[in-house]
Amino acid sequence: MSAERVLGRCDELARFSEEEGLITRWYGSRSLDEASDAVAGWMEAAGLAVRRDAVGNVIGRAGEGPGTFVLGSHIDTVRDAGRYDGPLGVLLAIEAAASVGELPFALEVVAFADEEGGRFPLTYLGSRGWAGLLTPEDGALTDSDGTTLAEAVRAMGGDPEALGARSAPDDLLGYLEVHIEQGPVLQDEDLPIGIVTAIAAQSRGIATFEGMAGHAGNTPMRLRRDALAGAAELILEVERLARETEGLTATVGRIHNDPNVGNVIPGRTRVSYDVRHQSGAERDRARDQLEAAAREIAGRRGLELDWHRRDDLHEVPMSPTLCARLAQACEQAGVRPLELGSGAGHDAVTAARLTPEVAMLFVRCKDGISHHPDESVRADDVAVALDVVARFLRLPGDPIGFPRLPC
Ligand SMILES: [Zn+2]
Repeated sequence: MSAERVLGRCDELARFSEEEGLITRWYGSRSLDEASDAVAGWMEAAGLAVRRDAVGNVIGRAGEGPGTFVLGSHIDTVRDAGRYDGPLGVLLAIEAAASVGELPFALEVVAFADEEGGRFPLTYLGSRGWAGLLTPEDGALTDSDGTTLAEAVRAMGGDPEALGARSAPDDLLGYLEVHIEQGPVLQDEDLPIGIVTAIAAQSRGIATFEGMAGHAGNTPMRLRRDALAGAAELILEVERLARETEGLTATVGRIHNDPNVGNVIPGRTRVSYDVRHQSGAERDRARDQLEAAAREIAGRRGLELDWHRRDDLHEVPMSPTLCARLAQACEQAGVRPLELGSGAGHDAVTAARLTPEVAMLFVRCKDGISHHPDESVRADDVAVALDVVARFLRLPGDPIGFPRLPC
């Protein structure tokens, strides 16, 4: 097994881009099509039988059932991306499949054609298609240029009429995704890899404070209704609550201030919120607590508040059976099996809609940087991840320990 080959292929994929000098590969683009061809070639070289499904996911298969275990991740990117978010999981899976030898179950490697949702208003497009969760009507979705998803699917060699067709195996045993951590925990723990316990519940929305714009010189302080000052209080409350609540992350990342002029009191301020926790109940509690704080701030300052909840996504627990199996593989490889949560969503979220037997292995990335050209992983960490995935697959029995079927 060669970590160098995996990293070399990550470099090769990075050459396929829609933008000169950057890594940008969105769904339906020529660069994604070329990247898919390259991945299909590497799958064939690894001895996998390659097919493409209706949305253009590339699937390689080896071995015989009963049961099929799937390794997967995505090969699309955000704009001006790094080279490891997605491709590392796909290329490491191909390397593992090439070297793992005969297994008592079939193995499939999937390169999902779109996870980031950079072009169409739909995240996990590739894995949704794989899981049979799209419908032919989704083909009418449009990108910012008015191109339909159906047209993009055709450009990827797919079939828009077959958008609802599931390409995931019917005898799916489970799903494992290797992905860069996109955070600093493993670096802080000085560990090459970590076992994901759950993908966090996430809430997103917008709080709008409505006050009264006025002249910065002629409106006395006691007569003001300053929307931005109210929003500022909320921003600090978001930070305070998250710092004081174990496992909670909460962020105001976006602010829109009106009229946003130096000598005018702000009349209307909108701030985004993003609240995440491994437990959906804890997430709900934090979100409701922030809403109550926003109402208190608005009431005290004579402001109107509109609290708009946009998304409330459930947490996705990983399989305890597969986590235990990963921990066993880590111990065999001489690595402390650290468990950690994922604050970000992944294709594993969609896989979890087909089977509870879903797991993720995170690989340390430098300073936690991701969605940025400075994304970086170490070859020795990738070698450890490869070793652990191979050991995981080779542990006795199939990955979820079904009793063997009599032949
Ligand atoms: Zn990713």
